[in-house]
Amino acid sequence: TSGALLGPAEIRDLAGRLGVRPTKTLGQNFLHDGGTVRKIVRTANLRPGERVVEVGPGLGSLTLGLVEAGASVVAVEIDPVLAGQIAATVAARFPDADFEVVLSDAMDVTTLPGAPPTALVANLPYNVAVPVLLTMLERFGTLEHVLVMVQAEVADRIAAAPGSKIYGVPSVKAAWYASARRAGTIGRTVFWPAPNVDSALVQLERRDPPPTTATREQVFAVVDSAFAQRRKTLRAALSGLFGSGAAAEDALRAAGVDPGARGETLTVDQFARVAEQLPAADA
Ligand code: SAM
Repeated sequence: TSGALLGPAEIRDLAGRLGVRPTKTLGQNFLHDGGTVRKIVRTANLRPGERVVEVGPGLGSLTLGLVEAGASVVAVEIDPVLAGQIAATVAARFPDADFEVVLSDAMDVTTLPGAPPTALVANLPYNVAVPVLLTMLERFGTLEHVLVMVQAEVADRIAAAPGSKIYGVPSVKAAWYASARRAGTIGRTVFWPAPNVDSALVQLERRDPPPTTATREQVFAVVDSAFAQRRKTLRAALSGLFGSGAAAEDALRAAGVDPGARGETLTVDQFARVAEQLPAADA
């Protein structure tokens, strides 16, 4: 049994009472399986009482699992109807819960109430999963670890290693902040409505960014250019950013990178070496 968590009947009741009609644009697929919620919470490996930020609590399926496990939760929800209900849903089951909700687009949140969160746990809206993940890691330096559910294909991309076919912008940018690994698959039937794609968990552990004199913006600009046209060599792909093919070639050689290589072979450290060849950001 789901105990205090939300099963199919509770999800149906809540949605019906609130007049919620899940929208694709907001990636609204709600978990209605307590077993899956508890698996996600277990995988998140939270410390007792740990401060957690959840993006997109929706009807509260995962939120209740986090609170049940003793976490202190601040949730950010963009949908005013859902944001308006969530505190009552939590309080009805866990009157002593340490819980707050912020009504906002997660991309716009620069500060959070209460203690700084050290963990991000979320079933992310699929169409904005990568930008939300990267933005949270950038803005909230206190985040030490992350467990997010995303589309399975996106999970693979985030966790991909250099040299792999699917290694790309999300892999390198995530690697700037953290080490990432895929941590399990979630089927479609545990959601209402069922999505058209499988989901997967990605676990990230914060680490220091590569030591470099380049700024993060410079490194990310090199990454974006390198993958803008995947088939191109780095010499060609970076010619715009460095002003010419010859300048790009010089920069790549100075960074110890083969100008004939493609972006999908470079580590985040190598991207940082290349970015160091850009003119200083403050010049
Ligand atoms: N956590 C709930 C669950 O597991 O059942 C809901 C997950 S649902 C996949 C994604 C949630 O994110 C929805 O509640 C949606 O309204 C919310 N959302 C979508 N875009 C958002 C954004 N930019 N900022 C904050 N919340 C967002």
